[in-house]
Amino acid sequence: MKIPFLDINSINHEFEESFADDLSRVINSGNYILSSELEKFEKQFSEYCQTRFCVGVGNGLQALEIVLQSWGVSAGDEVILPSNTYIATWLAVTRLGAKPIPVEPNIDSYNINPDLIEEKITPKTKVIIVVHLYGLPCEMKKIMHIAEKHSLKVLEDAAQAHGATYHSRKVGSLGHAAAFSFYPTKNLGALGDGGAITTNEENLFLNSKLIRNYGSRKKYTNSILGNNSRLDELQAAFLTTKLKKLDESIKKRMTIAKKYINHFSEIKSLKIPIIPENYLHSFHVFVIMHKDRDNFISHLKRLGVETLIHYPIPPHLQKAYSFLNLNKGDLPISEKIHSQCLSLPLYPTMTEVQISYLVHSVKKVANDLNVIY
Ligand SMILES: *Cc1c(COP(=O)(O)O)cnc(C)c1O
Repeated sequence: MKIPFLDINSINHEFEESFADDLSRVINSGNYILSSELEKFEKQFSEYCQTRFCVGVGNGLQALEIVLQSWGVSAGDEVILPSNTYIATWLAVTRLGAKPIPVEPNIDSYNINPDLIEEKITPKTKVIIVVHLYGLPCEMKKIMHIAEKHSLKVLEDAAQAHGATYHSRKVGSLGHAAAFSFYPTKNLGALGDGGAITTNEENLFLNSKLIRNYGSRKKYTNSILGNNSRLDELQAAFLTTKLKKLDESIKKRMTIAKKYINHFSEIKSLKIPIIPENYLHSFHVFVIMHKDRDNFISHLKRLGVETLIHYPIPPHLQKAYSFLNLNKGDLPISEKIHSQCLSLPLYPTMTEVQISYLVHSVKKVANDLNVIY
């Protein structure tokens, strides 16, 4: 039996007829950029995220960058962010010339540890970026309290957490603004690139709309230095179609995740995800840790189970960030996670047979490796 890490075809197959309608409607409208399909998606996505505003942009990285630029982040500023994240979070900061100030995660949640934030705040700090990693919301109450005390903005990187909730509130509405990605493999994925900003701040909303379109409100009149970063009509139409089924697909992810957790909780050599009370984890990825990770992966592969690593090298150890002079050992918790984590297949269209086979395979490999060591 073969279990792919993700079967994106099976996910999008369900929408094929609706996508065909979307395509034909967009073709016949003759409007392909910044028109009614985007407005419709922005309205529905802001309602979904429980915010006043949504701005569709080209991708998740640019969503982060446009928010930071709107807030005036530039060279000389510092931005606090998690050490344990995908590199896009850091790139948004350094692309504006600002300095990333990494904060280590809580090893149980993998998310930024709120208790380590305050010691990193300096007069140069402008923003705290939190990442709801793997789909689990951060400890927002503590983080917003710190931000208020120091008059800092909080940007949620919600690229992995569409639809996750924290005390019944949707991610995207928990900070001052949020950035989403609709990269095809995300929980809400387009058929290409896409991203969005959600916020309740009217100023940020208006500024982001300017920046995504050349800094121009009126054609050929440019009031600020903008970018070209627009969510196109066709992707917006596809996303509106998929948004209707997002909650249902998260429920399926959650059901599968709970099965995994039930079966794996007795395996001492495995670290499994936590689901704190009052949190809805959207399980973008199901991450476990094992001391002998690389062997674990190759044993699973031999059984036909494909896994991935999110992520093998933390941002501070990437060659691209050598100029920050951060070395191995400087952020030990992140480094430990990156050396021991692996992600198991988990997607809403998995069959019962696949789920059982995966559970069986993981148990077998954990047991075999225990015998060897
Ligand atoms: C995917 C992702 C991004 C970037 O999104 P793109 O649309 O690929 O630019 C940013 N942050 C995190 C945490 C992500 O997982």
